[in-house]
Amino acid sequence: MNPYLDTIVELQSAITQLKEAEHRLSGVPDWMRELHEEHSTRKREIDALQEASDEAAKERRTAEASTEDAQEKLKKYQQQINRVSTQREYGALLQEIDTVKQQITASEGQAFSSLERAEKAQQDLAAKRESFRELDERYATELARWEGEKPGVTRQIADLKKRIAELRAQLPRQVVSIFERILDRYPNGGALASVRPIERPPGKTQREWACSACNYRIRPQSLVEIRNSGGIVQCDSCKRILHLEPEPQEAEV
Ligand SMILES: [Zn+2]
Repeated sequence: MNPYLDTIVELQSAITQLKEAEHRLSGVPDWMRELHEEHSTRKREIDALQEASDEAAKERRTAEASTEDAQEKLKKYQQQINRVSTQREYGALLQEIDTVKQQITASEGQAFSSLERAEKAQQDLAAKRESFRELDERYATELARWEGEKPGVTRQIADLKKRIAELRAQLPRQVVSIFERILDRYPNGGALASVRPIERPPGKTQREWACSACNYRIRPQSLVEIRNSGGIVQCDSCKRILHLEPEPQEAEV
């Protein structure tokens, strides 16, 4: 049996676990992902309604202010009516009064419709907040549970780092450097590939094997080498380090 292969397999597994643990610590754990998404979606809906309500309230204030302005103007024009001396001035003033009255009607209409919009948004908001409360409480509970789990994950990360250093120290430097070069190339999938049997076409009796990562055919001689020699055997195509999966009955132990 290859003296290093078991160590390399364990090293790869520890590296994969380390990446998973680090990823878990920096994000949302799988078990609360669904709740997290639902919570964020509902929170966004509430924020959007709040924004719509604020916007409508602001529009209403603007419309009310322009109604007041127009009313001031109207008052001023009406006072001027008694002072005009020519028919032309009178006509022009009546024109101004007409325009300003139209402005008042328009801005009163705007104020009313934004008031309706603000009220509708407030009602929706109240209903959404009410139904959000239960979800929000559940979310807070799970968040606290996750906070409680974090120290454990941090410890696991420290243990894995220590184990990785130990395993690396057990391997010759050259083997470590081959392993790391391949790992750099496949940071997500890892530096190892298992050997898998190829379905035999009918009539063919000889068993054949392939790399589980890239499907490239593995020479029988390489298989013997993996089983018996002390060297590292790489896939001819993807260069990953080849290893044999444990036999099923061993795997169940
Ligand atoms: Zn391969």
